[in-house]
Amino acid sequence: MAGGGNAIRGSRVGAGPMGEAERGEAAPRQAVTYFCSNDHRSVVAFSVEATVPESWDCPKCGLPASMDSDNPPPAPKIEPYKTHLAYVKERRSDKEAADILDEALQLLRSRRKSGDLIF
Ligand SMILES: [Zn+2]
Repeated sequence: MAGGGNAIRGSRVGAGPMGEAERGEAAPRQAVTYFCSNDHRSVVAFSVEATVPESWDCPKCGLPASMDSDNPPPAPKIEPYKTHLAYVKERRSDKEAADILDEALQLLRSRRKSGDLIF
């Protein structure tokens, strides 16, 4: 195993991938500039055969960036972290939540009566 790794490392000396690219074997590329709402300008190289996406995540700040420098996409609103309880409250009415709590308490009591160890 270790011997194989050394062989691979050794073969790269003096024959790097950059040399092959200079011989013109790499696919032709196009440079596309994207702009984010933080005024970052990011140049991304695509193969000329590739479909250039309309938006790209800015490599500097992670915000979405577009090719239109005058109209970069707005930064997405950052949702505050929601607790599990907040999700439950959002999805269920208070009545439902009360019912569920009631059910859980009854289950807890019935288990206690029967002597089961719950936790
Ligand atoms: Zn940015």
